[in-house]
Amino acid sequence: MIEFQHVTKIYKGGKVAVEDVNLSFNKGEFICFIGTSGSGKTTCMRMINRMNEPTKGKILINDKDIKEVNPVELRRKIGYVIQNIGLMPHMTIRENITLVQKLLKVDEQTRQETAEKMIDLVELPREMLDRYPAELSGGQQQRIGVVRALAANQDIILMDEPFGALDPITRDALQDLVKDLQERLGKTIVFVTHDMDEALKLANRIVIMSEGKVIQFDTPENILRSPANEFVEELIGEDRLLQAKPDTTTVGEVMLKNAITITPEKSLREAISLMREKRVDTLLVTDNSKILKGFIDVESIDKMRGKASSVGDILNKDVFYVKEDKLLRDVLQRILKRGLKYVPVVDQKN
Ligand code: ADP
Ligand code: MG
Repeated sequence: MIEFQHVTKIYKGGKVAVEDVNLSFNKGEFICFIGTSGSGKTTCMRMINRMNEPTKGKILINDKDIKEVNPVELRRKIGYVIQNIGLMPHMTIRENITLVQKLLKVDEQTRQETAEKMIDLVELPREMLDRYPAELSGGQQQRIGVVRALAANQDIILMDEPFGALDPITRDALQDLVKDLQERLGKTIVFVTHDMDEALKLANRIVIMSEGKVIQFDTPENILRSPANEFVEELIGEDRLLQAKPDTTTVGEVMLKNAITITPEKSLREAISLMREKRVDTLLVTDNSKILKGFIDVESIDKMRGKASSVGDILNKDVFYVKEDKLLRDVLQRILKRGLKYVPVVDQKN
């Protein structure tokens, strides 16, 4: 439904903000752009609704070059929600919700019906329709921003970090709301975030950007299972990477850079100085046959000081034993219960 073909954007002054981007989104998909600040996410969004023009390449919507779509029709198709959504302060909530419809010359009665339908949709009282934005909380205003984008019955909604400034509870509720509305109404949503949790929660597919380029474009599952490079791995974070694998991966298959192996008879003092030296916070304990016996994180070691002298003592008291062929899924459950932060790994090479 939306297609980027070799899209490059060079701003005045020569800044290459977006470079040779090729993407194709389906109708009804929830797409998240994620990437570090300045990676070109906003520029991509703004090119979809022609707030910016590509320097090279083109963008198609329903197989039509957007340059050839007349602006009113484009506005009819595409809604835009930004952070601090910019509700008009001098207009009531009702007027705000129906603003785009008014611009599109939708009749009065339809507009009133829409306003009521929308406020019901986000479960706010209808009395609020006659209030002004300043009389609503930030979270309520953001809700209105979301439905305002839906009110004009646009097929495509662009959302640029819409929930960035909200507290976690409100943000969580609004994520659920957007996801639910998108699924129920079959909207295509293109959503920018720098929060991987948000992207993983919402997206059907994720576009990972760095320095104007698309690094990876795939489903959350595939990105977690096979990140394209170290940048993506970093963006995802180690904990999530490991948690993504439990269904198929055995302990023996996993390699964790951030750990060292040690034998059970080593003293805690030795263990701790080794961990400091190698800058790791997880120990893998193996016997001489190199079968994994357990793993310990630095916090657990600290807690056990005075109660145990060797690494093996801790293992006996506080760490479970695990074999290489154990599924991570099973191991993880036990790790999480124990509040350990890292998954055990055996380095096959040693
Ligand atoms: P993101 O949304 O990922 O943070 P942007 O798309 O806003 O990134 O910006 C990408 C790059 O383009 C940045 O280096 C930014 O400074 C630059 N940029 C954005 N808008 C303009 C502009 N109007 N003129 C010049 N450079 C810009
Ligand atoms: Mg941005």
